[in-house]
Order: sequence, then C-alpha cells, then structure tokens
Amino acid sequence: MTRMRVVLPAVIALGSNLGDRESILRSAVREIDAIEGATVTAASGLVESHAVKPDGVDEAAPAYLNAIVLVASALDPDGLLDELNRIEADHGRTRTERWGDRTLDLDLISFDGLRDDRERLTLPHPRAWQRPFVLVPWLQADPDAVLLGRGRVDALDAARSDEVRPFPAAPLFEGAGR
Ligand code: AMP
Repeated sequence: MTRMRVVLPAVIALGSNLGDRESILRSAVREIDAIEGATVTAASGLVESHAVKPDGVDEAAPAYLNAIVLVASALDPDGLLDELNRIEADHGRTRTERWGDRTLDLDLISFDGLRDDRERLTLPHPRAWQRPFVLVPWLQADPDAVLLGRGRVDALDAARSDEVRPFPAAPLFEGAGR
C-alpha cells in the first residue's frame, strides 16, 4: 500500500546584503530543495533594492538581493521554519540586530491557507503585503499569487513599486517559473 503524504504549497522569501550575495542565494535555493520533506517547484529571478531600516530606506547600507521560491512542503510550518533557521545559521547569520545587515534571511511568507499569530511564526508574514522586494519577485514566480487576507498580489501597491530593480543573473532553479 502506498502511504499518502499531505504536501502543501509554501512561499519563501530570500534576502542577502553581505558577502557574495548571488552565490549565497543560489546555495540557499539548493539547500531549501534538499530539505527532507520540501521540494522547490519554482523560483523568481533576482531583484536588488536598498536596505530598509526602522527609520526608512538606508542608501548607505549594502544593497539587498532578494528572490522568492515556491515549495511543496510535507513538513508542517514550524518544521519548515526550523529548517530555514538552520540554513540561515549555516550561512553565519547572527541575530544581533533585528533590522541589521545579514548574509542570509529566509522568511516564510505564506503556507497554503494557514493563519498563525505567534511570535515565532506569524502567517501570512505580517509585512509581506508592503514589501516590494517580496511582492515583485513573487509575481515573477507566480503571476496569479494571492496573499491571504490581502487578495491578489498584482493588485497591491507595493507590487508596482520601482524600488526594486531586476538583477541580471542565470536562473536560480532549473525548471523555474519564468
Ligand atoms: P528576522 O530576523 O526579521 O528574520 O525575524 C526572525 C524572527 O521572526 C524569528 O524569531 C522567527 O521565529 C520570527 N518569525 C515570525 N514569523 C515569521 C515568518 N513568517 N517567517 C520567518 N520568521 C518569522
């Protein structure tokens, strides 16, 4: 008898503004695909934007590269977040400053139709709706993306922002969605 596993779609945002940003994001995509119980199904291109700090855009800080990957997850949201935290830690991410520069930041943007409201895990990600560096690449990976509670991503103001620029690079993932 074949045992069925429930596999649910999740959206992960990747960001880096320290070190060799492109190769860090490339290896993070491979490492996400290698998680036991998660498979990358599509990836955006890379986009670049200025760092955002609590007081607003910080043009003096190193710029960010960001991307989105879509995954099919047999792990529950906390299990998937555990793995994302492990991958961040493997890349030397330390949490000394909440909005500080980082080698690798991985956020769980949405997980199927689930809502959660804990400090450790809020779903959908509470600030995703206003972040061009999340919405612009998300639409590249999924032009019909919907953010729970906010509607179609292509209808959100931040998705039309010119604050993010395409960053020319080879596809992040074979069989990527664009
Ligand atoms: P940051 O340093 O901005 O990446 O925030 C990381 C902290 O936010 C960690 O303590 C996470 O457990 C928590 N967190 C809450 N919701 C989420 C989410 N949807 N994705 C990633 N981290 C989250």
